[in-house]
Amino acid sequence: MKRLSLWIAPGKTSPDPMPAPMPTLGEVLYTEPNPNKSRKQCGNCFLWKSASDTCVIHDEDVIVISTMVCGYHVFGPSLTLATDVMPALANIMSVDPEMSNLQNTVQGASCDLCEWFTPRGQMEGVCRGTVDREGAGLHPTEAGFHPVVSALGCCSRFAKREE
Ligand code: SF4
Ligand code: SF4
Repeated sequence: MKRLSLWIAPGKTSPDPMPAPMPTLGEVLYTEPNPNKSRKQCGNCFLWKSASDTCVIHDEDVIVISTMVCGYHVFGPSLTLATDVMPALANIMSVDPEMSNLQNTVQGASCDLCEWFTPRGQMEGVCRGTVDREGAGLHPTEAGFHPVVSALGCCSRFAKREE
């Protein structure tokens, strides 16, 4: 399973008075678009338990409905009876919803709906919320280079853009 990321939406980062450097795409668990080009939601996440509106990695008392999403999204059919299919999943230590950036998003989550995204053509854009420290990106900043991401990619730092 992907490791927990501390890089989430603005306002949910550490209260440390020293400004933190921008994360890389790897540090925010960036994933490429779903194979069927849908936006990322619990409804198309392998870790969602549709029968109980809960999720494998969150506490049983956290309601997780199909229109939600978090930074751990794994594309695939929901595990309706997850603990029957894989008993070991019952013993997973749960993740705090604040840390996973669990949120409701009726349209689903994707870079092209994120406030950090600047479109570049139809299928991709620049992510101003992350840097490429290797300098391979095309958009220089003080911190390094902003990477180019897929319009339907997503990460744990997703922050829905206000319309
Ligand atoms: S909360 Fe995250 S891990 Fe759980 S079903 Fe939704 S997207 Fe998947
Ligand atoms: S545009 Fe938003 S969702 Fe996409 S990688 Fe950047 S921060 Fe994450």
